[in-house]
Amino acid sequence: MLSRAKIRQFLFGARTVSDKRWQQRSPGVYVFNYHRIGDARFSEFDPNVFSCTSEQFEQHLRFYKQEFTVVNESELLSLLDSNKPITKPYALITFDDGYIDSYQHAFPLLKKHDLSAVFFVVTEYTDGGSFAWWDEVAWLVKHCQLSQLKLEHWPDAVDLTGKNETQNIRKVLYAFKADQQFSMDEKLAQLRVICKAPVLPGSNSLFANWQQLKEMADAGMTIGSHTQSHPILAHLTPQQQRIELHESRIFIQDQLSNSVSMLAYPVGRTDSFTEQTQEMAKQCGYRLAFSFMNGINTKLTEQSAYSLKRISVDGNKSVDSLKVQVMALHDKLAR
Ligand SMILES: [Zn+2]
Repeated sequence: MLSRAKIRQFLFGARTVSDKRWQQRSPGVYVFNYHRIGDARFSEFDPNVFSCTSEQFEQHLRFYKQEFTVVNESELLSLLDSNKPITKPYALITFDDGYIDSYQHAFPLLKKHDLSAVFFVVTEYTDGGSFAWWDEVAWLVKHCQLSQLKLEHWPDAVDLTGKNETQNIRKVLYAFKADQQFSMDEKLAQLRVICKAPVLPGSNSLFANWQQLKEMADAGMTIGSHTQSHPILAHLTPQQQRIELHESRIFIQDQLSNSVSMLAYPVGRTDSFTEQTQEMAKQCGYRLAFSFMNGINTKLTEQSAYSLKRISVDGNKSVDSLKVQVMALHDKLAR
């Protein structure tokens, strides 16, 4: 006869991971990735970039400390330089985009638990006042009265009649990212005209500023580059890519008087950067570069160092759900 747990697992999928299975997980570098900490329901901007609340983030930190050897930048670089096989599960905590909540919510909790994380910042956003293109797209969709949206050159319109606003925003963003014909600025300009939305609120920046980032770096956090303007690098010419990678690195180094060795590719999917991008990252002086591809890094070598995989923490996950997510990725390794 099937146990209750087995029946539940059959009906609803695996909701928990047994201790025995968890302990058998592979050695490797498990890179957990966050965007915003907070409650998406109270934001006027893109709800899809909220990872979890502060309370959940603190539970995650306890979990990482208990179940992994949490490494900082220099420990990860030593692991890379050692050229030895990875023998146990390591965790690296990363944040993309450099939102103000990285400073307000994540940083105090990391300090409280004596942990370090890597914050990948977009240098044009950290100067204050500027909105990220995906946040402006979300703002425009939220205020758009149309039942469908279509830039002139798009083959298909995006249907906005669905009741789920988060889903509608995601669909428009998907079309936005897939469109290589125009730059982000040009597409935004077209969308502003079509949506007839009110002007964006101008006062407070959504991003951490240099004073705050300096305070974080001085307290042991790492500030990495997420480029100058968060473009999809694969859509740019080699020269434009080099400028995004090089200038952002130099700018952060000048602001913080620290060497910058880590990069996260904007959007980070397989089609968002190329082998040439990886080569350029290396030439620009980065030692490690992170994608947004889901997975566990069982090796850390010169070859793998420029397309490292990450585990996206989103959707307000509990520790149990996070374990399920990690084990699903782990099972992929065996296939
Ligand atoms: Zn990003």
